[in-house]
Amino acid sequence: MKKSYDVIVVGSGVVGSSIAYHLSEDKSKEILTIDKDFPLSGTSGSTQAWVWVHNKTPAWYGELNMYSAELYPFLERKIGDVEYKRTGGIAPFFSEADREKALKLAEKQAEVGIKVEVLSRDEVLEKEPALSRNIAGATYSKIDGNVNPFRLIELFVRAARKNGAQFLFYNPVTNITKENGMFKVTTQDGDYFSNQLVMAGGPWSKSLGKLLGIDVPIKQVRGQVIVTEPLSPFLSHTIGGMRQADNGEVLVGYSKEEVGYDRRSTLDIIQDTARMAIDFVPALEKVNVVRCFSGIRAMPEDGFPILGEIPGIENAYIAAMHSGITLSPLVGTVMTELLSDGETSIDLERFSLKRFDTIQSIG
Ligand SMILES: Cc1cc2nc3c(=O)[nH]c(=O)nc-3n(C[C@H](O)[C@H](O)[C@H](O)COP(=O)(O)OP(=O)(O)OC[C@H]3O[C@@H](n4cnc5c(N)ncnc54)[C@H](O)[C@@H]3O)c2cc1C
Repeated sequence: MKKSYDVIVVGSGVVGSSIAYHLSEDKSKEILTIDKDFPLSGTSGSTQAWVWVHNKTPAWYGELNMYSAELYPFLERKIGDVEYKRTGGIAPFFSEADREKALKLAEKQAEVGIKVEVLSRDEVLEKEPALSRNIAGATYSKIDGNVNPFRLIELFVRAARKNGAQFLFYNPVTNITKENGMFKVTTQDGDYFSNQLVMAGGPWSKSLGKLLGIDVPIKQVRGQVIVTEPLSPFLSHTIGGMRQADNGEVLVGYSKEEVGYDRRSTLDIIQDTARMAIDFVPALEKVNVVRCFSGIRAMPEDGFPILGEIPGIENAYIAAMHSGITLSPLVGTVMTELLSDGETSIDLERFSLKRFDTIQSIG
């Protein structure tokens, strides 16, 4: 296997594999992606996989997500059927007092072109009859949907390989240095060299950053999800809290706990999640839960993506974020622009690692 590349991407989750694919599109670069495990072993294999936009705030962050959601249909034409469905998204609220907040959200999102409707109870139930009669209303937008994360990542990797990009799995990166202007990436399997380096380590971004002597201000936040037995199709929208997959299973939950990299399921959260499921959709009370899983979010300390050049280290880049499923088509596109042309179609300044002024070089 070759030892020297134009670009090495560390991490083959949805973020790293999207970047590898988009970089490979014009076939001008030799690309190697290295993963310590395999592409779905991290957060990307343990996600709800909503392509979710409408209530992400502030509006500029919603706008970023909207651009990415808009790319999904084009992405599918290029890499194949990733089971992307633009179902429309419903985020129910349970008290009339929340209607005011919902109207403000709609007003703000409209400023950047995100169309949000505020629905009455009857309007929501007309769209999604399985929802509880206890809801007061919901925000709704056509832009939201969901995707099959397993197919998405498999097809990113397959399409990148077709374009000549290489992947190395089960091969941890243990050290990174610079030699004669090139990155020397030390792995279990030996050393690999590249002109450009992209860190896409998801929840391991902090420990990867240490290899470069930087502190990446990112938290590991566990989310637990329950999965029901397959049911006849009855939820046609992506609901803020649950979705029904193509095989009929309903995936429920969005808990948030800072417990480090601990992927156990716990009874207290599973019970809360089950209660929430029934509060939203009473008929779920009668169905069986067939499994639970948890994933570890890569959550930047201020909640927004860390994207772009790594300040102070020439030719090193980082892409670490929550909502990587929603954002991956756009992130792959803009990172390719950045690595290839040095400029991007969307200003990435506010996503720079530089914004964390508490960052100290620990190198
Ligand atoms: C419960 C839950 C629900 C979610 N729901 C949604 C949702 O509905 N919509 C949405 O958009 N997002 C959602 N997310 C977030 C989304 O799943 C993540 O943002 C996304 O999967 C992150 O992808 P990633 O490629 O950055 O990380 P990962 O998929 O974790 O990939 C990182 C990769 O880096 C590799 N790696 C790390 N260190 C090294 C090393 N030293 N050497 C080599 N390889 C290394 C790992 O093995 C891993 O494969 C959810 C997350 C959770 C946990």
